[in-house]
Amino acid sequence: MTTVVKGIKLRLYPNKAQIDQLWQLFGNDRFVWNHMLAMAKKRYENNPKSRFVGEYDMNYLLKPLKKEYPFLKVSDATSLFVVNHNLALAYQNLFQHRGGYPRFKSRRSAKQAYTGQSICTVEAKRRLKLPKIGSIRTSKTGRLTNGKIKRYTISHESTGRYYISLQVETEVHHLPKTNQQIGLDLGVSDLAIDSNGVKYGTFDAKWLEKQAQRWQAKFSRRRHQATVAMHQWNHHHKLSKMELNDYQNWQRAKMTKARYQAKIANQRKDYLHKLTTALVRKYDVIVIEDLKTKNLMRNHHLAKAIANASWYQFRTMLEYKCDWYGKRLVVVSANNTSRICSSCGHNGGAKPLAIREWTCQKCQTHHDRDINAAVNILKRGLKATG
Ligand SMILES: [Zn+2]
Repeated sequence: MTTVVKGIKLRLYPNKAQIDQLWQLFGNDRFVWNHMLAMAKKRYENNPKSRFVGEYDMNYLLKPLKKEYPFLKVSDATSLFVVNHNLALAYQNLFQHRGGYPRFKSRRSAKQAYTGQSICTVEAKRRLKLPKIGSIRTSKTGRLTNGKIKRYTISHESTGRYYISLQVETEVHHLPKTNQQIGLDLGVSDLAIDSNGVKYGTFDAKWLEKQAQRWQAKFSRRRHQATVAMHQWNHHHKLSKMELNDYQNWQRAKMTKARYQAKIANQRKDYLHKLTTALVRKYDVIVIEDLKTKNLMRNHHLAKAIANASWYQFRTMLEYKCDWYGKRLVVVSANNTSRICSSCGHNGGAKPLAIREWTCQKCQTHHDRDINAAVNILKRGLKATG
């Protein structure tokens, strides 16, 4: 039994008063971020040699800041600490050349969020009690009841919906051993094929993808129309200026587009969850190729398909699930896995992707290209683990 931190995301259904409150809290976090950032910039302008005000000092500054701006007191105090922590982190990344200069945040940005570390409690099947907000309606809380909530993030996304993401400390038990191993060859037309010849299809959302594309096109067209209309209006009306966000038709297309995209992403994630859980249940050792050495990215069309195939997400899920459930994920080099004969080890040379089957010149074994690769991957993994 191990203790792990799981991320759980629930939909929030705030009432009207709570929506106002949430926007105030998004605003407060943004206010503190922008205020601290402006201060850091000014300090640097005045004296480039001055030391960066660290997280601890910024937290100390919160007290006078709250006095000056009493509206900050309605926030969960821990969320303001999180802001300072993130800003200090952004500066650390800047100094260590891992990130650019931290930017000011805008209330116009598509995603608004704040993170706190106070206690959230489950009140009922579809209710949570949140710091400062109180009782709020949610989607099903069933998965939360036996976990300890460490951290929460409330967000308003480009879909126009509200969510809460919770980091929950949970105990997991290792799954029973099966003494089975499997090699997986990741592909483009199928997500993967295993060393037993089983194919795992890519997630298919053709209809949704078509809708998302349609709304993407509408979104671009309406954005253009709104831009033209805005310029015309502002040219003739010197006093009441319009902004792009004032054009409702465009805003609606933006939201609909975002909803289709979110739906596709969610369904793909569910699909990958089911698949990876099934694999981890069934096998003690799972061997996959290192994607960096899998040389398919040169072709633009393929690269797009690869992104869709969600290899990265698939691998990440396998990684942590193997870890949680006492199984083993082995990552091997993908070099020559499709060239070598899995029966005799003869290297049959390069073959174009269009060739799906081949016969080994040395031992005459007839191979399905992908299954042969998966078998080679499994062999390599077992060799590495001894
Ligand atoms: Zn052979």
